[in-house]
Amino acid sequence: MKTVGLIGGMSWESTAEYYKKINEGIRNGLGGLHSGKILMYSFDFEEIEALQHKQEWDKLTEILTEAGKKLKAGGADFLAICTNTMHKMADEVEKETGLKVLHIADAVAKKIIQKNKTIVGLLGTDFTMTQDFYTGRLKKKHNIDIVIPNEADRKIVHRIIYDELCCGIIKRESKLEFIRIINNLKESEIEGVILGCTEIPLLLEQKDLDIRIFDSMQLHADEIVREMLG
Ligand code: GLU
Repeated sequence: MKTVGLIGGMSWESTAEYYKKINEGIRNGLGGLHSGKILMYSFDFEEIEALQHKQEWDKLTEILTEAGKKLKAGGADFLAICTNTMHKMADEVEKETGLKVLHIADAVAKKIIQKNKTIVGLLGTDFTMTQDFYTGRLKKKHNIDIVIPNEADRKIVHRIIYDELCCGIIKRESKLEFIRIINNLKESEIEGVILGCTEIPLLLEQKDLDIRIFDSMQLHADEIVREMLG
């Protein structure tokens, strides 16, 4: 089994889910008492969030690269960044550490293509929804068209992620807001919706919606398990 180096804590609410899902995947794959060979670098998210909102992306790249190097020194065979947003630094982390970074957008794209879908909605942080590192990769590498909410709805999604989901706060009214926003996206004839923030699955499940969801956290964890088991 390969050892994964998880770059997590962004937030720990979803990293805890990764830890559980990877171990479940390994047990399903190998049976018995098997569990995942996992190294984790878990950040203090308050510090990361402050740098994100100050747009200090160079500093964040440095910090993530440092974590990646520590995981490599500890014996990680490959890396996984446990957040969509921080994949903004994925290429740089891969280059600087010399370790493969298993990209979350590629894991999501694989499932979308498998399901023969080509146009999907995307919910995530404003960084993920509006910057090229995520939607551009889906379009250029995988030929998937992305529809994002209008500015007012993007603000709502972004606020709920940072002020509630990353703090472990799950509210029914926020769930209804997400459902309303997804329903609005349906006007653009989307064939599914990417839960492109690793905390959104804490709020929304497939049974809440009549459109197919692509859960970035689950799909990423599944790919990590596949990579670990070769
Ligand atoms: N975990 C979230 C994501 O998947 C948001 C937190 C962050 O900014 O990293 O994008």
